[in-house]
Amino acid sequence: RMFNELQELKGNIRVYCRIRPFLPGQVAKQTAVEYIGENGEVAAVNPSKQGKDRRRNFKFNKVFGPDSTQAEVYSDTQPLIRSVLDGYSVCIFAYGQTGSGKTYTMTGPNEASEEDWGVNYRALNDLFKISQSRGGSFNYEIQVQMVEIYNEQVHDLLLIDGSQKKYPFILDASMHPVSSTSDVLELMDIGLRNRAVGATSMNERSSRSHSVVSIHVRGKDVHSGAALHGNLHLVDLAGSERVDRSEATGDRLREAQHINKSLSALGDVIFALAQKNSHVPYRNSKLTQLLQSSLGGQAKTLMFVQLNPDVISYSETLSTLKFAERVS
Ligand code: ADP
Ligand code: MG
Repeated sequence: RMFNELQELKGNIRVYCRIRPFLPGQVAKQTAVEYIGENGEVAAVNPSKQGKDRRRNFKFNKVFGPDSTQAEVYSDTQPLIRSVLDGYSVCIFAYGQTGSGKTYTMTGPNEASEEDWGVNYRALNDLFKISQSRGGSFNYEIQVQMVEIYNEQVHDLLLIDGSQKKYPFILDASMHPVSSTSDVLELMDIGLRNRAVGATSMNERSSRSHSVVSIHVRGKDVHSGAALHGNLHLVDLAGSERVDRSEATGDRLREAQHINKSLSALGDVIFALAQKNSHVPYRNSKLTQLLQSSLGGQAKTLMFVQLNPDVISYSETLSTLKFAERVS
């Protein structure tokens, strides 16, 4: 209830910030991020400044500190999953520089351990649980697509034959009916394996492409026959770090330009929606084109803004927070 009212006020966009912990072996223990508290405040701390220029405060719907668990981070997301089954479109993004914990939040470090599950698995698990609990009144059909957007091209990650087809639109990507969380785990496994094909290392490729898991839900009221259609898009975005133009050349520069273009297009779209502008610039990138029907209108958006606490990341942290501030 509260959540829906908040949604109205915020133009259906929520921003959660998550600060990942220092990793074992990470040398610097000085932090450039101060987790202020449960009311959504966080500060970027410039290590080389003193006085009033040292700190800059930001406020979001929520901030999760370095000790938060996967379950805590997911806990407020369930109402969104419920609304997918009510016929809404929902997009959940993870934004941040490479190494800030986007994949940890969305997928998790270890799919074999439910405790470690990220938002993707928890959301799907809930989707099935809630749809089954409504079995007496609604029949649901659930289908999954998984694509990667790399250099403004859409690659289907679920072609079982492993071919590397490219599409202009996500709608052309293969759809896979699923009826349980384990079906989805299996598909995501295939997707993750296909994602690694052709990449020097999976981490390298995944930091330079957006991965989108799209879940399409068709519900039919068993009594009235009325139909509804909901979507859930789970998006692990490419790393937001700026690439030094004087150093990057060739492929690396092209990748960086595509990433830059699509992340700023996403920022512009969400900003326009948050401002309730009449013109929303969806056409400026593949990513925003793909998600056009699921961003805006009645759709609900949740952005996880990921931060690396290390001082070395200060300037990226600050630009991540500024991006998030603009869209929130
Ligand atoms: P990204 O996808 O943004 O590049 P990753 O999710 O791969 O970043 O995270 C980078 C590293 O930090 C990984 O080793 C990951 O396991 C670890 N990590 C990220 N977030 C957390 C967290 N909340 N708790 C523990 N380790 C984390
Ligand atoms: Mg990643």
